[in-house]
Amino acid sequence: MEVTGRIIPPEERLALVPSDHPVLRRPADAVRDFDEALGALLDKMANTMYHEGGVGLAAPQVGEGKRVVVTHYGEERLELVNPEIVTIEGTQDGYEGCLSVPGYMGEVQRPAKVRVRYFDRRGRKSWVDAEGWPARVLSHELDHLDGGLFIECSTRVLRLRPEKAMRIVFMGTPEFAAIVLDALLEEGYKVVGVVTAPDRPRGRGQRVHASPVKDLALEGDIPVLQPESRADDEELAQYLAWLEPDLLITAAYGRILPRPILDVPRIGAINVHASLLPRYRGAAPIQRQILAGEETSGITIYWMDEGMDSGPVIHRAEMPLRQDITAGELHDELADLGSEALLEALEMIGAGDAPAEPQDESRANLAPKIVRGENRIDWQRRAVEVERRIRAFCPRPGAEALWRGRRLKILEATVEEGEGGPGEVLEVSERGILVGTGNGLCRITRLQPAGKRPMSVNEFVLGYDMAVGEVMQTDHDDQA
Ligand code: ZN
Repeated sequence: MEVTGRIIPPEERLALVPSDHPVLRRPADAVRDFDEALGALLDKMANTMYHEGGVGLAAPQVGEGKRVVVTHYGEERLELVNPEIVTIEGTQDGYEGCLSVPGYMGEVQRPAKVRVRYFDRRGRKSWVDAEGWPARVLSHELDHLDGGLFIECSTRVLRLRPEKAMRIVFMGTPEFAAIVLDALLEEGYKVVGVVTAPDRPRGRGQRVHASPVKDLALEGDIPVLQPESRADDEELAQYLAWLEPDLLITAAYGRILPRPILDVPRIGAINVHASLLPRYRGAAPIQRQILAGEETSGITIYWMDEGMDSGPVIHRAEMPLRQDITAGELHDELADLGSEALLEALEMIGAGDAPAEPQDESRANLAPKIVRGENRIDWQRRAVEVERRIRAFCPRPGAEALWRGRRLKILEATVEEGEGGPGEVLEVSERGILVGTGNGLCRITRLQPAGKRPMSVNEFVLGYDMAVGEVMQTDHDDQA
């Protein structure tokens, strides 16, 4: 399993003391010995700061009454022993939070600029000039060394929504998942880890690419886990446990999670599914809903269990399924709706009143993944079914017709009344290519010959001499 970024085991970090612990309220003692123990304390304090997602940490916050601070903002990590502010310039107003007072933000006036003198872990004298946000961080951390908390010098205190404090691990791979993860990050949710598929060769040239979810995670400096197979589950469960998630969120992750992984998060594991469950359980709900001619679609957020999309429901969001929508368009609309529905579900979970309504098994059906060949057009079918197939596989992989042994991807078509032999070309004009089916006619208006770019019928007619009376094959078995 590939691991990118830092995931810190419990023995390499320290526990934060609760906000009412007396060590937070008394002046800390100066460090006298610049020894190994001091180095170990600094290392563990830094690890604790990274694990908790903070930008600074003072030793009293982990129960050590010593004048020791670590910070990390921008690119740089600082370790300050016996620090002292030697000069102050100007003031700045702004909001800040504190790992020792979780769930609150306060408006605090701080110096605009500070110069801080300190010793490094080996006892060498040093100093740092800070301005703006870094000056705020240093001023906040040095207050801790004198028993001060930001909350008592705040002019205004805001209580954060409880769901914003949850430690979230996100699991997903494709674009759908990336859109949902992006919404979480935009809203300021605390995503402490991401699980996604291994990097794979994709697209033209088959270059190895990271998944869209991995790219987003790396941008946000979030650790990424990429298990290769089920054989990695034990290791995955171990790393997940180190991340101490409150909640696991999956979106299009592509596999059922075993009990040891479902058991890691403190609150539970939830999934964002692209259908109104119990309808269309499985890997391809978007294509299957279009193929079936459904008129309503939507999103279900549910508590995961060991079954396939069978867990109790927290929240549903419905949307009409337009009868001209393609899979690509429905994917994008459902990803947006899924992001909104997830944020609503997270509020319910944060408030502690998220429902868990069992699914009605009698109404369940499956949406298994698309297999090779399903995108081939069978002209014996009804025109409405052919047209749905075209939308269900647009833009990828494209519904395939066979003409003179050549593959044509049909990207757009409409249904018309009339009669014609299945696959028979009845009209070739700028208005489209009219083709007979088992029942009704299909007018093709946009297509893509194998190895060419997508084109309008006009362009196609100019380049290819398709004639009225020709028949497109309905049996693809002879296809290479
Ligand atoms: Zn603090």
